[in-house]
Amino acid sequence: MTSFIPFARPDIGQEEIDAVVEAMRSDWLTTGPVTQRFEHAFAETIGGVEAVAVNSATAGLHLAAEAIGIGPGDEVITTTHTFTATAEVVRYLGADPVFVDCDATTLNIDPARIEAAVTPRTKAIIVVHFGGLACDMDPIITIARRHGLQIIEDAAHALPTTYKGSMIGSLDTAATIYSFYATKTLVTGEGGMLVTRDPAIAKRARTMRLHGIDRDVFDRFTSSQSKWRYEIVAPGFKYNMTDVAAAMGLPQLRKMHLLHEKRSALATAYDEAFADLPLQLPAHPQPGDVHAWHLYVVRLRDETPMDRDGFIEGMAARGVGCSVHYIPLHLQPYWRDKYELRPEDFPASTDAFSRAVSIPLFSRMTTGERDTVIESVQSLLGRD
Ligand SMILES: *Cc1c(COP(=O)(O)O)cnc(C)c1O
Repeated sequence: MTSFIPFARPDIGQEEIDAVVEAMRSDWLTTGPVTQRFEHAFAETIGGVEAVAVNSATAGLHLAAEAIGIGPGDEVITTTHTFTATAEVVRYLGADPVFVDCDATTLNIDPARIEAAVTPRTKAIIVVHFGGLACDMDPIITIARRHGLQIIEDAAHALPTTYKGSMIGSLDTAATIYSFYATKTLVTGEGGMLVTRDPAIAKRARTMRLHGIDRDVFDRFTSSQSKWRYEIVAPGFKYNMTDVAAAMGLPQLRKMHLLHEKRSALATAYDEAFADLPLQLPAHPQPGDVHAWHLYVVRLRDETPMDRDGFIEGMAARGVGCSVHYIPLHLQPYWRDKYELRPEDFPASTDAFSRAVSIPLFSRMTTGERDTVIESVQSLLGRD
């Protein structure tokens, strides 16, 4: 019996192990020269931005929302079809998320519904590039300009993703945040990166990620004068990335395109193998654009011989781990009760949730594992 195929598995090689050991043997451990190198390399990868390394995407989203001035009484429009981190950071600042439905095909936020949700209290929009497929950013940027709103991009799934030929992260928005959580397309265990084209947002995020200190610890300890002096300019947070984590991130970043090619090839294999099955397959980007393929989400059609839970159980019985992205926020007790949200107000997300299954897709998957996943789906849906 072959072993269980997990839903996700990090792709850690000898380079990462060697780099982490080297960082552990250095005198730094916490934020220092390796983190700075990781930031520079990441900024170069995106192009035309500053990068601020943090200990999670949640931290990065919080810092971005704080840096653009979100506060009590403000509203921030976001999608219901996401992980709770996207919206909880709005509550950290005493503001209110306003949830809108997703597009039924892409599962990304529906631009038409954004405009309908704008009120005099609206300050910003947080978009999520679901699964690694870019949101249609042009209309969203147009709506934001028309109403004087800022845009934050939750790019936890979107490395490397492009929109009309440009890397996500390099578009004309306030800030973009990546996650390096263990299941994401680049991993540091826990970690994240805030990128921005706005030097004022970068400066504020750097200050607030470390206690509101006006200079990075690294600069403080290495600049020629006043090694001990620092100033607290705000009640900041403790969101800095460690050099041990950044050491893992650097070789991961160098391999980004290689790892993406492997995920892309798996997505193509799934597309072909599942084409004739009673499944709705994931949406693709416009020709020439890149889907990061963090997730491969299929949806069961009405004629599928079992429901979503039955499908996941059947896959597990065949040794394949699946997941669901997401249980929409409007169905979660906290959000549902606080904002009196009803399933019928989010028909696309509610329907997607009832049908969606995320199939394992990770760069370290062997061809044998890939074939097991494909054969499991085919046999479960009655094609042997
Ligand atoms: C993973 C994820 C996050 C949170 O990332 P962390 O690095 O774990 O804080 C936020 N938004 C989305 C859409 C995610 O998938």
